[in-house]
Amino acid sequence: MLHLIDSHHLSTPEVICVAVIEAAPDRLIMIDCGPANVFANVVGELRKRGLDPEHVRELFATHIHLDHNGGAWRWQKEFGTIIHVHPKGAPHMVDPTRLVGSATRHNAYWLSSERLLFAGDIAGVAIGGGPILPPCPPPDIDIEAWLSSVGKIEKIAPDRLCLTHFGLFSDPAFHLKELSDRLIAWAEWIKNALRAGKSEEAIVSEFEQFAEQEILRSGIGEKGVAVYEQADPAAMSVTGLSRYWKKHHPEALAVSG
Ligand SMILES: [Zn+2]
Repeated sequence: MLHLIDSHHLSTPEVICVAVIEAAPDRLIMIDCGPANVFANVVGELRKRGLDPEHVRELFATHIHLDHNGGAWRWQKEFGTIIHVHPKGAPHMVDPTRLVGSATRHNAYWLSSERLLFAGDIAGVAIGGGPILPPCPPPDIDIEAWLSSVGKIEKIAPDRLCLTHFGLFSDPAFHLKELSDRLIAWAEWIKNALRAGKSEEAIVSEFEQFAEQEILRSGIGEKGVAVYEQADPAAMSVTGLSRYWKKHHPEALAVSG
């Protein structure tokens, strides 16, 4: 059985989802535990559901960003939870889950019995009926690797995706198409801004407005914009995508004449 726990990050719902699989009566498997400041919330939510947090035997971390797994040490310390990070780390221990795609330093986990893929951030951020946005924080954004990971997920053809930000999505094909299209569009947007010689400050301010419009167009309002900003700050995507161009394709930034 699958439990999705809203960790109420900074008292805000639908920012960070913690997924827990009941693999056996005394064996829980967690995918991304959230930051340390939601540890008590998650423990409380497990107990409310009649689950014992001591039974969280393993934690599968999609990646080591603080908002996803900053609290991993707490689980290890309090309950002896074993933490899996690297795809080749312990494939024999992952039953009933097994590993699938990975972008740079990012794993997704495949629960074959449910045809459900725990995507971390690889399948983007989609909250409360808003758009599907690609979080692009520094330092390791690599568009080609990301698109290739999306391709791997499409090949597996899951029935559903579980996103850390936020929850279950039942139309992966549509979802992944929107994600890829927007990832490419955002990367182009940043490339053009860099080529125009704008300062980082100016780019951040313009990109924040651009991203805000994309969110508002979905009809989820200013409150929705704030939740997205908490889950996926626009300024971080500017830094991440700027680094991507400078590191991987500096020639694309050269302005001739
Ligand atoms: Zn994230």
